[in-house]
Amino acid sequence: MKNLEQLVRPNIWRLKPYSSARDEYKGVEATVFLDANENPYNAPYNRYPDPLQQPLKQTLSRIKEVPASSIFLGNGSDEAIDLVFRVFCEPGQDNVVAISPTYGMYEVCADINNVAYRKVPLDEYFRFRADDLLAACDEHTKVIFLCSPNNPCGNDLSRPEMESLLERFPGIVVIDEAYSDFSEQRPFRLDLSRYPNLIVLNTFSKAWASAAIRLGMAYASPEIIALFNKVKYPYNINQLTQDQAMSQLDHRFEIEKWISTLKEERTQMMRAFAELPLCRYVYPSDANFFLARVDQADRIYHYLVQRGIIVRNRSRVELCQDCLRVTIGTKEENNTLLAALRQYHP
Ligand SMILES: *Cc1c(COP(=O)(O)O)cnc(C)c1O
Repeated sequence: MKNLEQLVRPNIWRLKPYSSARDEYKGVEATVFLDANENPYNAPYNRYPDPLQQPLKQTLSRIKEVPASSIFLGNGSDEAIDLVFRVFCEPGQDNVVAISPTYGMYEVCADINNVAYRKVPLDEYFRFRADDLLAACDEHTKVIFLCSPNNPCGNDLSRPEMESLLERFPGIVVIDEAYSDFSEQRPFRLDLSRYPNLIVLNTFSKAWASAAIRLGMAYASPEIIALFNKVKYPYNINQLTQDQAMSQLDHRFEIEKWISTLKEERTQMMRAFAELPLCRYVYPSDANFFLARVDQADRIYHYLVQRGIIVRNRSRVELCQDCLRVTIGTKEENNTLLAALRQYHP
């Protein structure tokens, strides 16, 4: 890996961050807070929230087995994705490389930040090779984006190929593990200490069933986390979100049950879907959704919409012609979908 200073935008490396009242005084023993121009009424929501979300990070650290100093919390993973561009990529000069198809936000953030986005197609089984990604890189490639299990395909990427990339690419490798709780593969967040150039993304939106509170995590070396903290909005995670996340973490055994129920239901759904006359192929899944190739995806999509059932039409995505992406819902929701498709006549 290049050293961090060579990878970070010079203005960000030099940046002196905003220092808030809650940064300058962190003690909890004080009883009179007259430092932040807050309103004394309407407790507890009159106070600015903890800018670094320390109690939440301590709890997450124990559950996720990542040191608190290696955790960044953002307004969804989206904030962390955007920060990767703003910290590492000089607009109009640097580029990033990513597998294709994959999650759409990487490309949108690249476009917003005016950073060239180079796509490397997966093979017909949605596999990638480290060699192909490295061949797409040049001296201005700062970041490579991987997503495992990948969206919209649903499959884990090969761990040996990801390790090879982490060892050989001199820049930053982002591995988006939004769906890793549904996979049997060892998550990369547990190997942070081996890879100083690794950033792992996680989210409360999927396995943790909390998309509404907008909370995403990035795990990386304390040096990279410090850069994110320097660039983020000072109070990026509001108090309601911090409180709700804490209470969700207290219910983690219930979450484990949801995950195993969804995995069982995934097996059954994929089997039943594969037997539908309209289905040509169900791709393997390590996530809480699966991708299926069907006869005439557009027609089936609109047929389902008319019955009040919404799946994701991915038929215009690279390598996904005539593919629908189906999220695993409750047993009742899944059966409603299957019943509607059994009544479908082309
Ligand atoms: C759903 C999803 C996310 C979650 O994004 P949030 O902003 O945290 O809701 C991140 N990455 C991938 C690949 C996803 O599919």
